[in-house]
Amino acid sequence: MRGKFIVLEGLDGAGLSTQSVLLENHLKLRGLKTMLTKEPTNGLLGGIIKASLKGEWKTSYKSLQLLFCADRAHHLENEIEPALVDGRIVISDRYLFSTLAYGYASNVNYKWLRYINLNFRLPDLAILLDVSADTSLSRISGGRSNLELFEHKENLSKVRQAYLHAAKEFHIKVVDANGSIADVEGKIDKIVDKFLSLR
Ligand code: ADP
Ligand code: MG
Repeated sequence: MRGKFIVLEGLDGAGLSTQSVLLENHLKLRGLKTMLTKEPTNGLLGGIIKASLKGEWKTSYKSLQLLFCADRAHHLENEIEPALVDGRIVISDRYLFSTLAYGYASNVNYKWLRYINLNFRLPDLAILLDVSADTSLSRISGGRSNLELFEHKENLSKVRQAYLHAAKEFHIKVVDANGSIADVEGKIDKIVDKFLSLR
């Protein structure tokens, strides 16, 4: 049977990396075949994007979002689609809603952002880990001193608003992720179990 495609989205520090690992473990314990992946990818195109986010080379915001889309096309063709055919539950830490939210926050036209993502399959389930800009900043700066391209409070608030807008448009489940790791984990498991008819 064909697998399912689940996506976690949210601001940096929302807990995407933490929760995607926990979700994968949860599903594995239930005997399901999984694949954990993320965007930007660890491939060549993802590397170009990460270098740009760190300010190691400069490109326009539009060009940056096109690179995200190129990375996404490659990701879908080479990793996500084959895993779905193999019957896996694919969990992606970020997907096309990141382009919509971060692109919009950097003043790229929202309709154009949606347009350049039209050809990509939508996930079967998308969950937005919604945190305030303050929570995001405090969790990010706990780990690092240098802030990346989008990691400033005003900008984060704008990204958050764009995410909430996209959540309505694309029926994304919104989870309050300001609480503890265990609290957020419980909320995600509940949504995913219901979606997979496991409870
Ligand atoms: P993201 O991948 O969304 O940027 P991470 O999962 O890497 O976020 O988490 C960023 C930091 O915040 C890490 O140090 C992590 O341990 C911590 N963290 C994640 N979720 C929570 C939470 N619910 N409460 C407190 N700290 C958290
Ligand atoms: Mg992360």
